[in-house]
Amino acid sequence: MLKRIDLSRDVTAHWEEFQAAIDAVCRETAFSGGRYADRFEEEFADYCQVAAASGVNNGTSALHLAMLACGIGQGDEVIVPANTYIATAWGVSYTGATPVFADCTADTWEIDPASVETRITPRTRAIIGVHLYGQPFDVSECRKIAGRHNLHLIEDCAQAHGAMFEGRRVGGLCEMGCFSFYPGKNLYAFGEGGAVTSDDKEAIDRINILKNQGCRTRYYHEVIGYNYRMEGIQGAVLSVGLKHLDEWTDRRRYIGKRYLSEITNPVFCMQAHPENTYPVFHLFEVQVPDPEGFLAYMDANGVECNRHYPVPCHLQQAYRSLGYREGDCPNAEKLASHCATLPLFPEMTDEEIGLVIGLCNEYKAG
Ligand SMILES: *Cc1c(COP(=O)(O)O)cnc(C)c1O
Repeated sequence: MLKRIDLSRDVTAHWEEFQAAIDAVCRETAFSGGRYADRFEEEFADYCQVAAASGVNNGTSALHLAMLACGIGQGDEVIVPANTYIATAWGVSYTGATPVFADCTADTWEIDPASVETRITPRTRAIIGVHLYGQPFDVSECRKIAGRHNLHLIEDCAQAHGAMFEGRRVGGLCEMGCFSFYPGKNLYAFGEGGAVTSDDKEAIDRINILKNQGCRTRYYHEVIGYNYRMEGIQGAVLSVGLKHLDEWTDRRRYIGKRYLSEITNPVFCMQAHPENTYPVFHLFEVQVPDPEGFLAYMDANGVECNRHYPVPCHLQQAYRSLGYREGDCPNAEKLASHCATLPLFPEMTDEEIGLVIGLCNEYKAG
């Protein structure tokens, strides 16, 4: 069985490096924050071409902290895409503010600036764009809207480590970038991890205080804070991974491009990748008339696929009280009911890539 993602191949391939990194942390007992978490912050800021980064305990916390650093709270509205992993909206809700869901475009499947524009009210304070599936969203149009309406613009980069928009890395394209290092993300921890990146050192400074129980100096608490620190072991593991990220990304892009050019079966609708972007193929999503039937066909042929995401955020039960209806985000709803995710991870062999392409081309819908 070919898995949708097989992380164990990567862990095995780099076993000694990971082991040495973890040993060093344990010997120094630098378990929470500390030297190895700090070092990773510097390396990751350099990688993202930004002034500073703050390592945190997961991507959801990164989004929550970015909202807090913008001063978002009760009574505020923040526009987020309907087509994303739900955590994009959690950070907004944690502050007491309300997420307002915008549709995605019909071709890129990323947040639609035209839809964002229609969601703006006097209460709107910020927009969170998501580089979903590793494909940068239309940052330049969103910047224009944010500028016109004096809104904060935040990037959710949880699926897009190393992706670029007009030659610049994600994480440095807006006021702040929020990353996740959940196992299976393009850069991953041995557990949970996340980061906020920014060119605004003061914003990162505020985040450093908030994530560390509200203090800069131990036992002197300036504000009500959180325990959202990065663990030392995760920092050390992430430093190892960061050294390999570009080679992993090259392989993801090779696989993504092969799927795009060699899967010619017209039952599949593919995501558009605009010329001014450098996608990193976190997930290879297709639209197909009967996704459950397609998954069953692939499974019967020894290939595991899954779906991202079967229910759009605005129709999730958790947000039922917001009163959204079917038809409010038609492109996101169509995507949710037709999406299927093909296997894609750096250690896939050429033979496995060929197997997926062959099965897709032989697939007959219905
Ligand atoms: C994974 C993910 C998150 C949440 O990150 P965690 O580290 O799991 O908390 C947020 N947004 C998107 C788009 C994600 O894919």
